Amino acid sequence: MSVTGTVTPTAPTTLTHADRCDRCGAQARVRVVLTSGDLLFCAHHAKAYEDKLKTSALEWVDETATLNPTAVVEP
Ligand SMILES: [Zn+2]
Repeated sequence: MSVTGTVTPTAPTTLTHADRCDRCGAQARVRVVLTSGDLLFCAHHAKAYEDKLKTSALEWVDETATLNPTAVVEP
């Protein structure tokens, strides 16, 4: 029943600064693909709706790591 973590989308799904959370308007970090369409969430709201939405989500694209500017600290 584990379908998260290693999803390889066929289309580019990289979120940009133009993508906004559908709930609060902050920069979107997670894209949720539902049968009815896509939802974008910031990290906070992705967590808030995760339990409710993951059961019906076709795809859960978490890009919180790739968008974190402070994560670029490779030696
Ligand atoms: Zn939000």
